[in-house]
Amino acid sequence: MKSRLGTEEHPLRVAIVGSGPAGFYAAEYLLKSDLNVQIDMFDRLPTPFGLVRFGVAPDHLKIKSVTRVFDRIAKNEAFRFFGNVDIGQDISLDDLRNHYHQICFATGAQTDRSMGIPGEDIPRSHAATEFVAWYNGHPDYRDCEFDFSAERVAVVGVGNVAVDVARILCRTPEELMGTDIAEHALEALRHSKVREVYMLGRRGPLQAAFTNPEARELGELKGADIHVPQDEARLDPLSEAELESSEDDKLHKKVAIVQGFAEQEPEGKPRRLTLRFLVSPTELIAGEDGGVRTMRLEKNELVADGDRTSPRGTGLIEDLPVDLVFRSVGYRGIPIEGLPFHERWGVIPNEAGRVTDAETEQPLTGMYVSGWIKRGPSGVIGTNKKDGTETATAMLEDVASSSVLEPANPDAGAIDGLVRERQKNVVTYEDWTRLDALELSKGDQAGRPRVKFTSREEMQEALSSG
Ligand code: NAP
Repeated sequence: MKSRLGTEEHPLRVAIVGSGPAGFYAAEYLLKSDLNVQIDMFDRLPTPFGLVRFGVAPDHLKIKSVTRVFDRIAKNEAFRFFGNVDIGQDISLDDLRNHYHQICFATGAQTDRSMGIPGEDIPRSHAATEFVAWYNGHPDYRDCEFDFSAERVAVVGVGNVAVDVARILCRTPEELMGTDIAEHALEALRHSKVREVYMLGRRGPLQAAFTNPEARELGELKGADIHVPQDEARLDPLSEAELESSEDDKLHKKVAIVQGFAEQEPEGKPRRLTLRFLVSPTELIAGEDGGVRTMRLEKNELVADGDRTSPRGTGLIEDLPVDLVFRSVGYRGIPIEGLPFHERWGVIPNEAGRVTDAETEQPLTGMYVSGWIKRGPSGVIGTNKKDGTETATAMLEDVASSSVLEPANPDAGAIDGLVRERQKNVVTYEDWTRLDALELSKGDQAGRPRVKFTSREEMQEALSSG
């Protein structure tokens, strides 16, 4: 029976959980194979595309055009989207095992890492991931509140997410109008009193995690001057030697961009963005109102630490007055019930996408991972193409060796019935296409690229009245 899997009479039935790039790229590769594959993609949110919709910055519209590729995949007749269906709540892992030969989790990294310092959770100190989800209109974060009566904001970390956060804080209302930022965020930021934004790197410019185009953009903001203290832009001897021996053009350019900023004269723009290096927050201190007023920083030096150049505190302390803090020190995966989890790395243990048992390290039949839950929160959207392809390749190899689940009920209609029984408001891809058109037309009326729906209720209402 199993040997005929992947034929018209006996299609390979695959469930993909998560509709971001890692899920879509795995689906694309599977659909291109010679086998007859049917894919059902689930997302707990009503809308597809994961971090392309809720992570990519609203002013980076070009990056979002990758959804055209996903749209093409979704329109394949062997593909179905089940939005607003929570695997774990509406449908269990055992339900999936009963209906599919293979299950691939592409659930990303849904929470954030913490700094682990005293005062981290006092009012006006937030995870950047929450701010990002809020300004991108994620339904679970629309009611978050950030106090933009603050004049001085610190963003901890110098990765691309920190760059996005700093840039959005510095954008003028006119610039934000030209983005697909959520309406509630546009309105709140219109009244922002923010004047000073600090981005804080614990290591030097050479080790900064941001990429060059993103860094360059910080020097082109209409409403904010860029500033880097000269002494922090200069490389320490260790980094100097590392750069000298490196032929990586991108590293040389990165340092040149930062040092160029340090030379720049202010133009008197209303806001100032300061990039700091070799400083680590050690404590957040509340003011009289209980909210953050001071960030205690320790000056670092760099030391060789195996392959890595690590920061080491020098004991030199500085108190930075700030009224709002976003920590942007990385995302983190969360466990999935019924699957093993690597606590320290925040990923599901796997080999080339095959989920492996925590103890025996042997693959668990029929279970796969793709994207950030597989490799951790690194890389750009395109990185997920290679990643998803690797997982899909493993899946196809396992079909060839008959190492698949044996679902009791692999019929496509059966799972459809079960899902609808458990969740009345399933959003299909066709439904999403209608929501998409409505968002674009609301955008058109408002002179904006798109006005997003930000609540499940709004979306249901729009779908039932259309
Ligand atoms: P990231 O690139 O890993 O950057 C994390 C930053 O946090 C690093 O600067 C890191 O410094 C710092 N950090 C970590 N722990 C810290 C601590 N305890 N104290 C102070 N600083 C600390 O992560 P990300 O910015 O969240 O981005 C995630 C991925 O998405 C990245 O691959 C990124 O490139 C990608 N992304 C891309 C775009 C784009 O292409 N435009 C936009 C957004 C995100 P160390 O280096 O010293 O550890």
